[in-house]
Amino acid sequence: MNQSNQKKLEKLFLYLYYNNSYFHDLLQNMAYSNNNIQDIYRSLRPITKDEIRNNITKYLSKDFINCFQSYDEMISELNDVSNLSLNHDKVISKNGHKWYIETTSGTTGKPFAVIKNNNELLIEAAYLYKFRKQLSPEGIDNGFLLDHPIDPVLKEINFRKGHESYEVVFDHMLKKNPKWIFSTALILKKYVDYIIKNDKYKFLKKISLDFIETTSQTYTVEEKKHIEQIFNTKIINNYGTREFWNIGYQCSSGQLHLNNEYLIVDIVDEHGESINEQGKIGEVIVTSLTNKSMPFVKYYLGDLARIIQGCNCGWNGPIIILEEGRKNEKLVNTKYFGNVVFRKVLKGIYINHKFNDLKRIKIVQDGGYHLSIYVDKEKKFDMYFEEKFLEISRNVVDDINFNKFSFDFIYEDFDSVLTDSIYKEQIFVSDISHGN
Ligand SMILES: [Zn+2]
Repeated sequence: MNQSNQKKLEKLFLYLYYNNSYFHDLLQNMAYSNNNIQDIYRSLRPITKDEIRNNITKYLSKDFINCFQSYDEMISELNDVSNLSLNHDKVISKNGHKWYIETTSGTTGKPFAVIKNNNELLIEAAYLYKFRKQLSPEGIDNGFLLDHPIDPVLKEINFRKGHESYEVVFDHMLKKNPKWIFSTALILKKYVDYIIKNDKYKFLKKISLDFIETTSQTYTVEEKKHIEQIFNTKIINNYGTREFWNIGYQCSSGQLHLNNEYLIVDIVDEHGESINEQGKIGEVIVTSLTNKSMPFVKYYLGDLARIIQGCNCGWNGPIIILEEGRKNEKLVNTKYFGNVVFRKVLKGIYINHKFNDLKRIKIVQDGGYHLSIYVDKEKKFDMYFEEKFLEISRNVVDDINFNKFSFDFIYEDFDSVLTDSIYKEQIFVSDISHGN
């Protein structure tokens, strides 16, 4: 942690101690007995989404809580995914304040509302703007955002409709003649698929992109090269989430440099202890030095990564290297990691299809081409749920071998299927011997 961030952290803790009930309780035993901010920081446990959910009435800023008549009203607004935009967000205006609620899902796909005020949002937007402007000094205001769109046409696009929606996107792109594109890797892959299948490639010559920025990277090296060829530009990786729009941004040497302007990013082991050894793999936790509406202090993300120092691009900041998953998270006989693809599937189940009686789910690969899906759900033997689960899975797991898979849904014995980290709810595990 650099000196400037140490100062900011000290100020943040002081603010939270006096203005936030959850952190008041958490910090009160250490705030005055120990004046070393680094020691206080080290002794705090990572905070998970479940921990926040369970303490939500104390966790959020009083300004936000006071916007509602009761805690019940506030909680039902936070849990309500029926009024989200296609971009999975909504705006709440109350008492002269404006709040942005962005819904994310994390490692389990379960919806989780992230709250920010206008100021907090602007800080994140400005940070990304800075990098994008370096890559496209002339075209910075002419971006084409397929993820988190602001363009009114793109805002109405429902990508789940497949080629029908990509046609609208393509026509609109030719009209706008953008200088850069922002997209998730999945949408971008499907977009390229549409372009090739419909013989639209020739029209792309009219467009000259400075770069494509992608987030949620799930493509192979070959797929990346292919997309770069199609659009005749480079792909830049942005490691970000809804909680933190940018955690790491790719430099000219292809490395993800950590955002240490207003974030503290650390790696912890399975017990939640910080890993200080350079290059050792662990799970990512993040502290935001600016967010106070919904504070994030040692917030557990669950992504697997390691941090190293030194890059030949000339930028001095630490580099994060993301690992797609553990060995037992590989979906054997496909090119995917099960934890990555099934997180997307579950996000579709919870948010797009609004199954709200699903408590827990665990997908176990117990044969080369067999998945057992353990479901803890109020309605048992739900054919509609099974149908949707398989439909979304086939859409997300874009691999020919996946057609050979068979599935069993099991609605009992949930607790017999264990997880191996006290923080992480592992939704997928491969239980067969490795090496295919
Ligand atoms: Zn670099």
